[in-house]
Amino acid sequence: MITRNGFLKGLFISHVVYLGFLCTDAIGIVSSPKINSQEELEMILTERRKLAGIEKEVVILAKIDKYGNEIDHPLSAKLGDKKYGILLGPEWGRNVNTLDHELYHIADGHCDAEMEVNNRFLRFLQYFYLHEPQAILYSTYGIKL
Ligand SMILES: [Zn+2]
Repeated sequence: MITRNGFLKGLFISHVVYLGFLCTDAIGIVSSPKINSQEELEMILTERRKLAGIEKEVVILAKIDKYGNEIDHPLSAKLGDKKYGILLGPEWGRNVNTLDHELYHIADGHCDAEMEVNNRFLRFLQYFYLHEPQAILYSTYGIKL
């Protein structure tokens, strides 16, 4: 029988391990080639979206936020039917690893799924425990689940 303290201890340890795994994303980001311009981003996007398995008819608008005015971290979002956007920050996340990470969110339907969950807390749980680790597994280790 699991005691309350044993459960809490297990929960704490599992979260420390999980947070350690999430931090491995930083290793991939630091060692990844930097994307130097919007033109380079467009070229790399054409190649990397194929590797992620995104269909040709899906439109992806990708942009480097040069001045960091719009966001301070990279993101991907659904913009419409078969239309998605990726925004990379001016420094953090302006690399191939992060582009792959955001492409995986699109390829695996994470952007669509998150729009269907109205409750912000449930959406956070879905993002933090399901979608984010999957995207990190792909961008850092090349594993598609
Ligand atoms: Zn992510």
